[in-house]
Amino acid sequence: MLPSNRQSMSLEDHAEELASDLGVDKEEVTRDLENLVNYSVPMDEAKQSLRRKYGDGGSSGDGTPSSKAISEVSTDDSNVTVTAVVLTSGRRSIQYNGEQHVIREGQLADETGKISYTAWDGFSGDLQPGQTVRLGNAGVREWDGQPELNLGDSTDPEVVDETLDIDYEVGGRAALQDLAPGDRGITVEVQVLECEQKVIDGRDGETTILSGVLGDESGRLPFTDWEPHDEIEEGASVRLDETFVREFRGAPSVNVSEFSTVTALDRTVEVTEDAPRMSIREAVESGGLFDVELAGNVIEVRDGSGLIERCPECGRVIQNGQCRSHGAVEGEDDLRTKAILDDGTDTVTAVLDDELTARVYGGDLDDAREHARDAMDKEVVAERISDRIVGREYVVRGSLSVDEYGANLTASTFTEADDDPATRAQALLQEADA
Ligand SMILES: [Zn+2]
Repeated sequence: MLPSNRQSMSLEDHAEELASDLGVDKEEVTRDLENLVNYSVPMDEAKQSLRRKYGDGGSSGDGTPSSKAISEVSTDDSNVTVTAVVLTSGRRSIQYNGEQHVIREGQLADETGKISYTAWDGFSGDLQPGQTVRLGNAGVREWDGQPELNLGDSTDPEVVDETLDIDYEVGGRAALQDLAPGDRGITVEVQVLECEQKVIDGRDGETTILSGVLGDESGRLPFTDWEPHDEIEEGASVRLDETFVREFRGAPSVNVSEFSTVTALDRTVEVTEDAPRMSIREAVESGGLFDVELAGNVIEVRDGSGLIERCPECGRVIQNGQCRSHGAVEGEDDLRTKAILDDGTDTVTAVLDDELTARVYGGDLDDAREHARDAMDKEVVAERISDRIVGREYVVRGSLSVDEYGANLTASTFTEADDDPATRAQALLQEADA
């Protein structure tokens, strides 16, 4: 068949071709193929995986594939048999072929290591954390360069009475600071710091969700509750079982679903006052952090600082009365500072809102307007800010996002570092020298 024909082949065509090549039921192949494609597996890879599953190449009839230790499972394997302890297990509802399907995801471990798994709805096992299970004929696929187990209707699960000496804790109990996007079946005990209702366009029309901020002894993270639970309200201390973690604006976010259990705690979960302090390079390399403290010298105040104008419709900063989305608009005055912070390892742009800008400028919006009017130049506001902060060291706490717009730290606090004993000592020495 010509490559140009392949391009236009539908999923059905691919399934038909596979079914006839492999001599198996077309409906079954179609279902498997849809399954994989809807899980974002590219078509070619999906077909290869099914050729392996249905034993293309004369290897069919071998029975169960050989048993492997988890550390030996590689992306070159097509099917393996493993005996492992279920560490975590979280359900998730996904949609394909117009239907809702519940999949189960988590991690398994044996004496040699751990591995992630996805159990499709055809899988007949139960997978309770703590159970030791023997999984015959588990599929292997590659995810992010790592092997992962794919458990489906051809996988043979068996709970075995065996104790494995594993190095990992069973259950998904975690501190907020240790969570990473992709974590499943997670349990956290937290205090709800902020919580608001939002109406969004969901799969089935408008639906109400909750979103806000959670805190514990280790840190703070944003959350979304897709199936609002009454126990989640501002100030409440709760235990959240079976949550999963996704990336939201470059930082991990806790997701509460219809499968999560929310339990009100009869104690108050203490929340740390501090944000983790790290080098700018370390923070930027993390890809984004919800709450972090960085310190460095302000080396420049960027364009778009000082007395600026925003579009009244969308809030974007406008130039010459023109909004990129709304054309000619009557701009609204505002104060903002974009300061480049450098600690010798890397740089970020600290973005200060109107209140923090008023503090570094030494005046409010009315003062800035008057200042600009007197000078007949708006730039005087940014110039004064620059004179006051460039060359000085600051400690900045805020939310870091790293994307195509660069590394931006939306500041919640912006404090000169002269409280730092080392800086003060250095200043004293310089005075002594003078
Ligand atoms: Zn606009």
